[in-house]
Amino acid sequence: MTRKKLIAANWKMYKTPEQTTAFFSEFLPMVTGHSRDEIVVCPPFVDLHAAVEAARGSNVAVGAQNMHWEKEGAFTGEVSPGMLTAIQVTHVIIGHSERRQYFNETDDTVNRKLEIALENGLTPIVCVGEVLEEREAGLTEDVLRRQCTRAFNGISARKAAKLAVAYEPVWAIGTGKTATPQMAADAHMVIRHEAEKAFGKEFAQQLRILYGGSVKPDNASALMSESEIDGALVGGASLDPASFTKIVKY
Ligand code: PEP
Repeated sequence: MTRKKLIAANWKMYKTPEQTTAFFSEFLPMVTGHSRDEIVVCPPFVDLHAAVEAARGSNVAVGAQNMHWEKEGAFTGEVSPGMLTAIQVTHVIIGHSERRQYFNETDDTVNRKLEIALENGLTPIVCVGEVLEEREAGLTEDVLRRQCTRAFNGISARKAAKLAVAYEPVWAIGTGKTATPQMAADAHMVIRHEAEKAFGKEFAQQLRILYGGSVKPDNASALMSESEIDGALVGGASLDPASFTKIVKY
């Protein structure tokens, strides 16, 4: 089974619209014609329009880092899935550990967001992963199973077709510590098994499971060579066009 890898940039809270345009002017020529992998850049909300304009007609898609589950309403500071699709945003990160840690994102809100993202035709990248204490206590599998079961709850395989999952061990995010390809592969197999329970074997075999956590130009190749790893969610190293290009071209 060959799954086209998805390499996604998560810019977190970095860059203005002007800096976004400048990034694309440098980045796009370096990845022109690269069709082996799907490439997505997820900037902050205020940069999405500039990113969509800059990437128009290219092989790079644009995603958001979060969204609300309601269509519209009195939710100050939030952005709905329909607002994203209205400006041609095609992907959305859901349940990033920083959102779980600092903004009270829960397995339940992840589930609600996943369902509505799929209903709106967005490609969701659902993030799961254990914190260091959980790994040290031997709870990694339990955590992944719980996060996946709850995220997938009530969603049909037909509806979930575009789903991608990112395994992001929290202890590896922004720390310079990377899971070994084998550690990632073991976690990915747990996630794939949960996807099989929720959506069936065929679906699980096609599901793309990305690895995220201090992916850099010098470790991307080893990680991407592992057959269980179907792409990368890249934070810090995606901010620089040359560095992100090296990862895309691992
Ligand atoms: C992330 O933001 O999802 C991430 C993995 O960050 P970093 O690559 O900086 O560890």
